Amino acid sequence: DRLVTASADGEDQAVEAALRPKLLEEFIGQERVREQLSLVLQAARKRGAAPDHVLLSGPPGLGKTTLSMIIAAELNAPIRITSGPAIQHAGDLAAILSSLTEGEVLFLDEIHRMSRPAEEMLYLAMEDFRVDVIVGKGPGATAIPLELPPFTLVGATTRAGLLPPPLRDRFGFTGHMEFYAPAELERVVHRSAGLLDVEIDPAGAAEIAGRSRGTPRIANRLLRRVRDFAQVRHDGLVTREIAARALEVYEVDARGLDRLDRAVLEALLKLFGGGPVGLSTLAVAVGEEAETVEEVAEPFLVREGLLARTPRGRVATAAAWQHLGLTPPQPARA
Ligand code: ADP
Repeated sequence: DRLVTASADGEDQAVEAALRPKLLEEFIGQERVREQLSLVLQAARKRGAAPDHVLLSGPPGLGKTTLSMIIAAELNAPIRITSGPAIQHAGDLAAILSSLTEGEVLFLDEIHRMSRPAEEMLYLAMEDFRVDVIVGKGPGATAIPLELPPFTLVGATTRAGLLPPPLRDRFGFTGHMEFYAPAELERVVHRSAGLLDVEIDPAGAAEIAGRSRGTPRIANRLLRRVRDFAQVRHDGLVTREIAARALEVYEVDARGLDRLDRAVLEALLKLFGGGPVGLSTLAVAVGEEAETVEEVAEPFLVREGLLARTPRGRVATAAAWQHLGLTPPQPARA
């Protein structure tokens, strides 16, 4: 699988527990969300009540799960972790909700992928701390109300816009997570290096940060690969040169593009003069499915301002030519 994917692989899951900041003040970056959340939590503590439900929106790997655990830790409350796809029937949700203890935090990842009936049950639970358990079938079915202890729902979604408004409106607070700035990722790398006992100098951390696509999960993963290289081929110290050479081996370039990203860009520039070219033609040229090009490679290329999607097809930007060290063709003179 891709080294630069933002979703967690098996190895990530094993080490992430060790790398997660435990308290709000250890959480790096996301200043605005952190300040807003800190106010929500302090106010709740002052009132001695469970805080409003919290929605965290943003791409994978930016720290939504981490923040939900921090919320629970700051409230001194237990946490239950589940996800939208895991809740296919309203009954699954009823079972979870009815087993919550007072003040517990329920983290619901990918909340936009819950089934409709579960979603409707959640409305009532969020608002009135109650679920209606349906007993029986057909005309004889009756709804038995079941009181729930007050709890705090922390929902996570890749895009808040995907949520139906009635669900979105039931959150007291929405935190929008942004991609991290390079300086913030450097701090993430330094912190993780400390926890993993990796010796690294500031330039080494900067090199890894610059290739991490604004995403702490990727920064942590690249750090582990660079550590392997530093330990096997050298004395273990991570410098700029070691980091760059290690990531060259793994085909992650200076800007965080991997083999597929570069193949797409190279085809666009070298075979189609920078475009415009249709998606399917571009995909055939790199030997991939159109879907893979569109969903796996393009989002980051667009975000980086290297590629544009236009009605006439895919077009490379001036930055793309520059990044690959190529000269754009001169426009023909009239
Ligand atoms: P998400 O739930 O948004 O996919 P996670 O909370 O699982 O992301 O975070 C992925 C990894 O990145 C974790 O190992 C976590 O330790 C690390 N991480 C995320 N945000 C931060 C941060 N602000 N500071 C330090 N590490 C972070």
